[in-house]
Amino acid sequence: MQCYENIQDLRDHLSQIKAQNQTLGFVPTMGALHAGHLSLVRKAQTEVDQVIVSIFVNPAQFNNRSDLELYPRDLDSDLKLLEETGVDCVFTPTSELMYLQGHESWVSLENLPVPFEGAGRPGHFRGVSTVVSMLFNIVQPDLAVFGEKDFQQLRIIERMVEDLKFPVRIVRGELIRDEDGLALSSRNQRLSAEARQSALAISRGLFSARNLFTRGSRQASELLGVYLSEIESEPDLTLHYAALVDEQDLAEIQVVKENRPARILTAVEVAGVRLLDNIAMQAA
Ligand code: AMP
Repeated sequence: MQCYENIQDLRDHLSQIKAQNQTLGFVPTMGALHAGHLSLVRKAQTEVDQVIVSIFVNPAQFNNRSDLELYPRDLDSDLKLLEETGVDCVFTPTSELMYLQGHESWVSLENLPVPFEGAGRPGHFRGVSTVVSMLFNIVQPDLAVFGEKDFQQLRIIERMVEDLKFPVRIVRGELIRDEDGLALSSRNQRLSAEARQSALAISRGLFSARNLFTRGSRQASELLGVYLSEIESEPDLTLHYAALVDEQDLAEIQVVKENRPARILTAVEVAGVRLLDNIAMQAA
């Protein structure tokens, strides 16, 4: 496994791969890797010859300094996991190389970043779309895999690639959960055993909503109702948002219509840790 910190060294390596007509898949991450990230790597491996993973805790997408400082980092363990998974190349740039002194170019979308994560975290998605654009320009992959775990982010990247004609195919990776149902997240490391137990109400509530959907319910009031009653039953949880949305434009909907994929998106805070989750409204 080749590791690069320097952009030019990485470009030299990747141009050799291109010269051999090998296809390249890319999985951008912020490290503290878990089975969710590795599932994206495996997905890429089924489609391309070589897989590159980036590990970069992007300061521009943190609107809160302490969140950036508390973000878990464990490069040694990450590299070991990637090596074991058969990744070909890892890119670990520094902030100074990514954001040059005097940096003033940003990529931002009009509407998709406004609600949900964008409303609670000003500038967050501008940071995401900018760093992903930079990474695409550096790596120039044939495809890139993003997880459905961050569904709003995924839609933003898909829209950006379409609008700005990036020559890359975006592939969706399914949301991976722990055995107890909690969506895997690097932030779960910050949960005490007690907080984690309370957090299980999130996936429990989402599964209840999906079961209700499977039994025929299509109304936001009913589907969100069962979810919210689980959240309200746990005094340690603070709801940031829960919404039933159209998967395409993320507009809130009152009723799920035939042939219009819909999803519940939610963010909940547990003991100072903000957790995201979502579930597709499709028959279980
Ligand atoms: P992050 O390191 O949190 O920025 O995530 C890097 C990529 O991994 C993003 O595309 C995330 O959506 C994806 N990801 C994070 N957690 C999961 C999960 N539990 N299941 C699937 N993909 C995930």
